[in-house]
Amino acid sequence: MIELLSSPTTSQWLTILSMYGWIWIIPLIERLKPLKHQSFIRKGMVNDVIHTYHRLHLHSMINIVFVTWMLTYLRENGTQSLPYQGVLADAHWAWNMFALLLMGHVTFYVAHLLSHKIPFLWQFHRVHHSSVKLDSLSTSRFHIVDKALFAAPYLILVAYFQPDPGLTFLYISFRDFWGRYSHGNISDAHWLGYFMSNPKFHRWHHSNHPEAIDKNFSAEFNFLDYIFGTAYYPKDGIPDTFGESDYSNNILIQHLRPFIDIFRLIQTQGLRSAIWKDSATNTAKPTPQAGNNGQ
Ligand SMILES: [Zn+2]
Ligand SMILES: [Zn+2]
Repeated sequence: MIELLSSPTTSQWLTILSMYGWIWIIPLIERLKPLKHQSFIRKGMVNDVIHTYHRLHLHSMINIVFVTWMLTYLRENGTQSLPYQGVLADAHWAWNMFALLLMGHVTFYVAHLLSHKIPFLWQFHRVHHSSVKLDSLSTSRFHIVDKALFAAPYLILVAYFQPDPGLTFLYISFRDFWGRYSHGNISDAHWLGYFMSNPKFHRWHHSNHPEAIDKNFSAEFNFLDYIFGTAYYPKDGIPDTFGESDYSNNILIQHLRPFIDIFRLIQTQGLRSAIWKDSATNTAKPTPQAGNNGQ
């Protein structure tokens, strides 16, 4: 099985599906089974397609620097015998899959939680939350710094435990598919949201409804949200207001604005305000818009 998954043909197919498959198949499913009726053509759509296909890959470069630094550090410090280092290299494929899913879930949950709770990180993550209409194309709207910070902890664990490369690639492809699915305007079974981040579950995360602010941090499986009390998944109702209507839909401005906002935050409220969110003066989330009761 591992040989099949590791083969260049499988990798090529998964790459094609990630690049062109899910991106254009899921919008078709959105038309067939919409959660809410909304038009395919929307403001910010071109911007989101550019986010999907721009090849700057600065986030990948940042991540490569991270991983290279870690591997060099481990080597130079004679750390071949560090506990469990490389333990997945010879493990059964089932253990590899289990470890990949667990590492993916834990690192995503923690990185996502921090990107909401730490004000300067929020300014980068805010780009992803700026979409006022949510569909699968909005999945790609990410600041490159945000994307790099989300991926870095996972890559460090992969570099350390060394799971099978074929299975790692399969997991990354699955995560790519599920990210597009969970942002999709798709109606699916309600029970799915009790163990996976389905479209309805993740819509609450993007919503401006006060009761859902800083909830539902998970991607794919969502048991950590239920364990740590950050799940919000009412049986009835679908959120209907998202994002910030005055945030730019221009990818260049979206990449520049967080730096300006962080600079202004430090200038007006001091360095501490960029690192620690004062719950009394919640500056990290946009003000919920008026009339946002989608239930
Ligand atoms: Zn978020
Ligand atoms: Zn999202």
